[in-house]
Amino acid sequence: MALVSYLLGDCPGCGAENKFGNVDVYSDHVYLGCGRCRHNERRYLPPLKKKVLYLDQFFFSHAVRGNEAQFVEAAKRIVELAALQLLVVPYSSVHEEETHQWAGHKELLEFIKNTARGYEFAPAYEVEQTQMNRAFDAWRVGEPTGYSPLRQDAFHDDLDVWDGYFRIEVGEYRGDIDLIRRLKAEAIDGLIDLFPGWRESTATFEQDIRIEHDAAAKGYLRAFGTYLTRMAKGDYDALSDSPIIATVVRNLTYRFPRDEPHNGRMKRVIDFLASDHFANTPYHDIQARMYGTLKAMVKAGAYTNRARSIQRLSGFYYDVKHISTYAPYCDAFVMDNPMAEIVNRSTVDLAGRYGTRVFSRNNWDELLAWLDELRSGLTEEHRAGLATAYPRMQVS
Ligand SMILES: [Zn+2]
Repeated sequence: MALVSYLLGDCPGCGAENKFGNVDVYSDHVYLGCGRCRHNERRYLPPLKKKVLYLDQFFFSHAVRGNEAQFVEAAKRIVELAALQLLVVPYSSVHEEETHQWAGHKELLEFIKNTARGYEFAPAYEVEQTQMNRAFDAWRVGEPTGYSPLRQDAFHDDLDVWDGYFRIEVGEYRGDIDLIRRLKAEAIDGLIDLFPGWRESTATFEQDIRIEHDAAAKGYLRAFGTYLTRMAKGDYDALSDSPIIATVVRNLTYRFPRDEPHNGRMKRVIDFLASDHFANTPYHDIQARMYGTLKAMVKAGAYTNRARSIQRLSGFYYDVKHISTYAPYCDAFVMDNPMAEIVNRSTVDLAGRYGTRVFSRNNWDELLAWLDELRSGLTEEHRAGLATAYPRMQVS
């Protein structure tokens, strides 16, 4: 006996009237059963190739307020494409971190999770560590310096599956101690305060990028050093309350083969942190380029009005985090105009270098066209799959 979700008709096994139908959908097939006997069937569904779209806070906060027609319209199409198994709009740990700062964040989080339909990215710190691990392994054995993002860097689960009937609730990400620090430290005023100094700077773009990478490397080493010092003093709380970046270097030291002498390992990790392999990890590459590009824009005379700069760049730190962590794993990314302006410049070139389409208010019609194109790719085979998997779904 099965719990039938959609009754389709009489049971082919026991003949019971109107007791047979779909029980649930599992990745690549529908499981059918009978409410009276143990008769069951499986109907296999066609393979899927879903696109990944990232919506950042800017999109969700407008869509949830519902007062801007263009956002409501796009949200409607996106939700439909997700139901049609053509698109996923995964939820990320950065959405959660950022959203917690908002008044009325429960409603916003609920909306983001509903749109995500149970699909979520691996937490940001994990994506960062995975990229570091892969780049370090490649550096250690002398492989080329380029980094090819793989979906499994950023997702634990296969995205190209048919959704089951009961959307799995996306849980909350484990509290990140870095988050609390960032919330305190990263007031946008601090960024704007740097602008006068940037305008005086004579460093080239390449030098600025180098400065960013060096600062990131030092950040890892400093956090790891603090952790080691605390442990050496017997402060074992360091095991649980150190910032997540303190463990990045430690994790790299674990990746040597057994026969590698212990005393040379730290030196090797430090060498890696100065390498192109490190600089080419997408997270650091995009982050450094976004900062370097903003700096170049400031030097060239942009962002001179303080109040207006604060307004335009209010979400800058989180936007950089959303984009640098997850954009390489997305087919398209919706962001606000100031961010799109930065990532579309040749010095970041997100679309050219990572194949990610960039949409913002400035090219909203292109977003709608992209969504329409996706919708028009609905094949007869796919429609038949939808009818088998979701018998009540109305597909026009
Ligand atoms: Zn039966």
